[in-house]
Amino acid sequence: TDLTVQELALELKLPETEVIKTLFIKGIAANINQTLDIETAEMVAQELGYEVETVEEESMARKVTEMIDVEDLENLQRRPPVVTIMGHVDHGKTTLLDSIRETKVAQGEAGGITQHIGAYHVDLTHNDEVQQVVFLDTPGHEAFTAMRARGTRVTDIAILVVAADDGVRPQTVEAISHARAAKVPIIVAINKIDKEGAQLDRVRQELTEYELVAEDWGGETIMVPVSALKGENLDALLEMVLLVAEVEDLHANPNRPAKGTVIEAHLDKARGPVASFLIQNGTLKVGDTLVAGSVLGKVRAMIDDRGERVQQAGPSFAVEVLGLSDVPAAGDEFEVFGDDKSARSVANDRSDQQRQTRLQQAMASRRVSLNAFSDQAREGELKELNLILKADVQGSVEAILGSLGQLPQDEVQVRVLLSAPGEISETDVDLAAASSAVIIGFNTSLATGARQAADKAGVDIREYSIIYNLLEDIEGAMEGLLEPEL
Ligand code: GDP
Repeated sequence: TDLTVQELALELKLPETEVIKTLFIKGIAANINQTLDIETAEMVAQELGYEVETVEEESMARKVTEMIDVEDLENLQRRPPVVTIMGHVDHGKTTLLDSIRETKVAQGEAGGITQHIGAYHVDLTHNDEVQQVVFLDTPGHEAFTAMRARGTRVTDIAILVVAADDGVRPQTVEAISHARAAKVPIIVAINKIDKEGAQLDRVRQELTEYELVAEDWGGETIMVPVSALKGENLDALLEMVLLVAEVEDLHANPNRPAKGTVIEAHLDKARGPVASFLIQNGTLKVGDTLVAGSVLGKVRAMIDDRGERVQQAGPSFAVEVLGLSDVPAAGDEFEVFGDDKSARSVANDRSDQQRQTRLQQAMASRRVSLNAFSDQAREGELKELNLILKADVQGSVEAILGSLGQLPQDEVQVRVLLSAPGEISETDVDLAAASSAVIIGFNTSLATGARQAADKAGVDIREYSIIYNLLEDIEGAMEGLLEPEL
């Protein structure tokens, strides 16, 4: 049976751009709605490193992700969920992370010293058994966006923190878009309920505008009122995390060599290169030979999130690893190899491959500009124009959205992935890169680093101060008539 680019990307758990890029390199220009025959789909899957098997059972295919191979299917076991906390600045992300850690980890732990390694785990009792939840505590959206831009999914569940005295703000909206784009379920924590100005229903109301409707309002989104500061209702929140994890049915094969993602890395003066690994499949052991990105390593020692030296670590857990030959990048994948020789040759291949990928990305990213879009629209190739809209105030956002909605969309549809007041941020650029979108700025500015990130990722940022000009360009691009910029 045929399937579209979008469906294939979903099946492979990869961003659509990866699929489009692979097709592009093979000389096939495609958009996300393009239908692919099974041979082409298999070719793409193989190019992207998947084992292609004629599928007897749909659910089986779904389980084969980047991190899980066909051979693992017989040995799958439940693994803990990996959770990221997202939300607007000052809404209480750090406080929530700290207070969950304090209430659930502190007492009675050996050593009692908490170690910052980019993630920590808590033990919870649920249905009379102890279950773990792993929290990524990498600041901001970094964990999410940088890794998603590379096509890796490290998070199973997102907790969206919204302060009850402040409501939905620009970064709240941004977080929703990122979680959606990565297809990660969202649990809302309405925070600061201890505060005088807390208005829970206002938050619920505002969230409905982003299709997050509370369960008690007839929707499907779990919303838990909490006070991160006072530690109120955290148990209920954690209970919901376990519930969603159960539904998500998360598995891995602990009985195989480990692979996963680098979540943090730095050069330590005394200890040399140090990296935190999130293990996504298999078990990592002291003495293992591995490749992280293009860096070779032999695990000399591992330290867990409680500051303890450990001999091994299984799926969903994070450990700090010593013994790497160099510092890998956050977001790099790592994999253990049976012998030094194959690890070495993979490391070499990888550095070649990385150069290659950068080249391909540079090629593919040319597609993500309004001019390129215009060219392709003229050829009748593209059917959808993805936009990210940032403007000075909400009023402008609405005015522009209104006008965009009135453009004729029979041939080409405009899809606004994110629209919000505020400056153009690096995370906007990441989202644009990951979803082939053009960023439109109206009477707004660029955050530090955004321009550089856009140049690197080949993302087109268009700035306007007159709505008419903005609409003219978009309409021009849709009709394939946009004049090249001089
Ligand atoms: P982040 O920027 O999202 O990480 O926010 P922080 O965790 O740094 O919190 C911002 C401020 O809000 C700090 O002064 C916290 O003490 C305060 N805060 C966080 N959670 C609560 C809460 O539940 N109740 C109250 N009253 N204050 C909170």
